[in-house]
Amino acid sequence: MKMLAFRYHGPNDMRLEEVEAPQVAVGELIVEMESASFCGTDLRIVHGNHRHYPAGTVRTPGHELVGRISQIGEGVKGYELGQRVFVAPNIGCGHCEECISGNNNLCTDFNALGITLDGAFAQSVRVPANAVKQGNIMPIGENVDPAVAALIEPFACVLRGQRPLNIQPGEVVLVMGAGPIGIMHLKLARLKGAGQVIVSEPVAERREQAAAFGADRVVDPFNEDLKAVLQANSHGRGADAIIIAAPVNALQEQSLDLAAVGGRISFFGGLPKDKPTIQFNSNLVHYKELIVSATTACSTDNCRQAANIVNSGRVDLSPLVSARVRLADAAEGLRLAEDRKSLKVVLVP
Ligand SMILES: [Zn+2]
Ligand SMILES: [Zn+2]
Repeated sequence: MKMLAFRYHGPNDMRLEEVEAPQVAVGELIVEMESASFCGTDLRIVHGNHRHYPAGTVRTPGHELVGRISQIGEGVKGYELGQRVFVAPNIGCGHCEECISGNNNLCTDFNALGITLDGAFAQSVRVPANAVKQGNIMPIGENVDPAVAALIEPFACVLRGQRPLNIQPGEVVLVMGAGPIGIMHLKLARLKGAGQVIVSEPVAERREQAAAFGADRVVDPFNEDLKAVLQANSHGRGADAIIIAAPVNALQEQSLDLAAVGGRISFFGGLPKDKPTIQFNSNLVHYKELIVSATTACSTDNCRQAANIVNSGRVDLSPLVSARVRLADAAEGLRLAEDRKSLKVVLVP
């Protein structure tokens, strides 16, 4: 049987094509895609900038997947045909120190849907036996919009990113970059009781979106003095927590200066791979006792927590879905995902 898939054939060469549909094997599940959202990682892949897509790779990207179980392999228990599930994309070996301690995103022997394995930009997706065994399949309520549930993966990354920041009620939080990830950081900081969330973003549409999503103050960093705004809103102290949700070297450098004494910083977004170094004022870290942290992707445990939050309705991610595009029109979806105005673009069958 054939199915439709949106496949990578090389840098800037994505093709919508008919491929062989996956057939279930022992221990596996097949999930029929209901929603698959585009992510910054997918854009990196498309442009040939992803380390797991070396020259010659032909693969289906997509790692933000919600769908219905359409085939159940021999030996798999606890799931039903037709059940709606979110699939946590990162699959560790299951027995190294990282996996055992719940950090399977850091496993050196890892696989991931849409990264090293065929992913979600297709009608059906094979979930390998070790992923099924390790609990990567998470039930999603029938009342939850599957397009919103697909955002569990990026939200899990955001949860992971904020863990080292330990945001306390009343604190001043600065989010640099108001793309979909920046907006999720804003929402989570709110949930944690931040006193003020200030969002810095150069694109006007994105500033407006951030304001609509509950930012206390939005700043245009090219036309306003961000440091002065922060000081005016923090009794001159600066930000208690700073999240850099944009791949911009200068923002990482600047954040050390913008942080309050005792501030915590997350270098959330990775930098361009040909320009990964920054000027790091170590004395600012020293004299202000700053904590500079970073995270990469998300563990299955982070997904579990994000799925619980989304299933509970405690954080409403639905306004983040800015477009739903049919898989057959995936090229249009990709164009929208790159326009710097869309939040999350979600493929649907
Ligand atoms: Zn993602
Ligand atoms: Zn491992």
